[in-house]
Amino acid sequence: MSETTKEVHQIGFVGLGNMGWPMAANLAAADYRLWVRDADVATTERFCDEYGGAQIASVASDFSSVDVVILMLPNGSIVREVLVGSSGLAGELKPGTVVVDMSSSEATGTAALGQELADLGLIFVDAPVSGGVPRARSGELAVMTGGDAETLQWLASVFATMSSSVVNCGPLGAGHAMKSLNNYVSAAGLVAACEALRIGQAFGIQGETVIQVLNSSTGRNNSTENKLGQHVLNDSFASGFSLSLMCKDLETAIGLADHLRVTLPLGHDLLSIWRRGEAELGPGVDHTAIARLIDSTPPEQ
Ligand code: NAD
Repeated sequence: MSETTKEVHQIGFVGLGNMGWPMAANLAAADYRLWVRDADVATTERFCDEYGGAQIASVASDFSSVDVVILMLPNGSIVREVLVGSSGLAGELKPGTVVVDMSSSEATGTAALGQELADLGLIFVDAPVSGGVPRARSGELAVMTGGDAETLQWLASVFATMSSSVVNCGPLGAGHAMKSLNNYVSAAGLVAACEALRIGQAFGIQGETVIQVLNSSTGRNNSTENKLGQHVLNDSFASGFSLSLMCKDLETAIGLADHLRVTLPLGHDLLSIWRRGEAELGPGVDHTAIARLIDSTPPEQ
């Protein structure tokens, strides 16, 4: 990072979905000058109507004045396409622009893309997030970063508008590796919690009681605290995180394990449960609906 004293004034933000919208909204509220883009033009227009200072970046050259570009997109392939694809942004950015991938992308792809962007004079860091839509709205996400430490330090005030915790995990891609591992643990915790809920109910224990005991005992996890009561017990299934995104994160974690030759007693079985959920319930359905898979499995005769 050459100009460490230079402040961030203008930010380009790509991907105004469930997460990107509230994250960009917090940046707008912190008075950064924003250039926004989403594949859904109506969404981009709605954002700019709501946050008066934000401007639509309809062509790649609209990003030419920004200091930082943040991407909050479904996966690393889309991030790559948006940056260095046929009409990619990267060629329009001024040298030294910092590109921040806050999506949950694949660590190995991130490292390769970082080299390509460095060849164009750009600085690439990864900073995926955890905490879901509620914490994106409240600006209390957990951010896990990878890449040049000085650049990440320079971004601290930008991250502070969106998050309550930033952990630097290591070199470029380390944040993305940690994000997939976090969601691996989260996916296992949710399936186990839903199974326990359904078994308890089948035994005749009230669902609320199952949740109360888990949350005051050693079975407590994020799913027992924030998903079972809020999204599963009442069948609302509306956390804002889709089944397809959870499958993608698990595939990323298991791909990383395979790449590193770490064998997993649980991982492949866990992934097959989530893939079955995606196939039977639909990719866009909320990930908490995985509980319905447990309901729909007929008892063994
Ligand atoms: P989403 O599907 O709600 O939003 C993605 C947005 O990207 C959409 O608005 C879509 O129109 C836009 N988009 C897709 N392709 C594009 C392109 N080529 N150019 C511009 N815009 C494009 O997804 P989300 O839930 O906001 O998740 C975004 C990322 O954050 C994913 O990587 C996800 O794994 C991760 N994540 C999600 C959550 C959550 O709770 N939803 C939590 C943590 C991390």
